[in-house]
Amino acid sequence: MPAPNDLLSVFETVIGLEVHAQLLTKSKMYCGCSAAYADAEPNTHVCPVCLGLPGALPVLNRAAIEYCLLTGLALDAEIPPACKLDRKNYVYPDLPKGYQISQYDLPLCVGGWLRFSSGGEERRAGITRVHVEEDTGRLVHRVDPGGAEESLVDLNRSGVPLMEIVGEPDLRSPEEARDYLIALRQVLRYIGASTGSMEDGAFRCDANVSVRRIGDPEFGAKVEIKNMNSFRAVERALRFEQERQQAALLAGETVAQETRGWIEDRGITVPQRTKEQAHDYRYFPEPDLPPLAVDESMVAGVRARLPELPATRRSRIAADYGLGPNEAALLTEERAVADVFEAAVGPPGDAASARVAANWIMNDLVGLQRQRGLPPETLPLDADQLRDLLAALAAGELTARAAKEVLPQITRGERPRDAARRLNLLSLDDDAAVRAAVDETVAAFPAAVADYRGGKTAAIGRLIGETIKRTGGRARPETVRAVMEDVLRKDNG
Ligand SMILES: [Zn+2]
Repeated sequence: MPAPNDLLSVFETVIGLEVHAQLLTKSKMYCGCSAAYADAEPNTHVCPVCLGLPGALPVLNRAAIEYCLLTGLALDAEIPPACKLDRKNYVYPDLPKGYQISQYDLPLCVGGWLRFSSGGEERRAGITRVHVEEDTGRLVHRVDPGGAEESLVDLNRSGVPLMEIVGEPDLRSPEEARDYLIALRQVLRYIGASTGSMEDGAFRCDANVSVRRIGDPEFGAKVEIKNMNSFRAVERALRFEQERQQAALLAGETVAQETRGWIEDRGITVPQRTKEQAHDYRYFPEPDLPPLAVDESMVAGVRARLPELPATRRSRIAADYGLGPNEAALLTEERAVADVFEAAVGPPGDAASARVAANWIMNDLVGLQRQRGLPPETLPLDADQLRDLLAALAAGELTARAAKEVLPQITRGERPRDAARRLNLLSLDDDAAVRAAVDETVAAFPAAVADYRGGKTAAIGRLIGETIKRTGGRARPETVRAVMEDVLRKDNG
């Protein structure tokens, strides 16, 4: 079999993703139960509606509809004036009603596209539709103390608002699919529609993938992959499937149209069921909920809540503050982090101070954030504290080294200057003290001094470093350099 890279000139991979995202509403989709079920005892967030008891009537959650519209607007989708809800019928133990209330032929949002960057290039992929539905309950499989296997049903998740975002088959590689997902998750987090957490199951992805010979007008047989629980799993599963289908085509075999499950620990996909056996969901309009009229004022109200989106903000911050694309991408990964950066730096102007702020966020603050186990959107400093720190650095009150030392104190609310004074870390303004440290260093490192005087001027770096060390990091490098050059010149003369 030829190497995978050679196969790229023979075969084309076609991928489309279907994403299910839980919406960040307080209550469930069709009842008043709390949607925050994560830490709850099983079957405590339930009522007749989400238990599917006969005669219970659903009431539509307006916040969920608005989040879905907000997502559609963020993806440049069209919002048709009329839509409806439909019953999707199937039997499974985690679905007490025997049907899910979803949307079939008239979804809330139609069309649109997602901007994302992949392999250093800006890309866009089409969106087919975005619609609302409800989550199912959960099955817990376990072995009881007597050794018997049992499956338990927890209906806390039953009826939690869910949004399905169906993408066009516009993606051409597993890497691109991963980058698309990361960008989509970022959009949902920016607009506050979902936590986007794959670990918690709040952001789930099924992938449709087929392989065809380049130039073939027809798509290959479509395989649907399920059960991928991380961005990495999506990429790995798609790569496995791409290679499996290429190998089958090379061997003259046909690829079966089927659903396959990703087995994480074995790194393979296995058949789950063929499309012939797939459910016929027998969709029909939900009789207990009237069709939904989405008027212009509702759309306008939702549109007013739309923030600047990640792709736009990334390019604007790069251009306005003179930052590279990677720096801008890191700073805008989380909306709250980008907010801290912009609020601390202020309006664009001085590119040098913007870079200092960017470096502090990307290195020291994110480092401390990880060390303290804070979530990615929470920096250990707020914008005011960071602004204070940057001002003290710019005024020369603190050296960068001293600032790193007082960082923990600043995160506890102490002003940078106060913390530095208390810990005796304020910059040395006293020329005599710097001069004394320089003299000590010159006396202690005769070889480096001789090197410098012999023409190896780079030796001054070591002497400056040693002097700064002698002042406990309080002397400013530029002051030390000036005094050191002066001393070396004079003593030589
Ligand atoms: Zn309920």
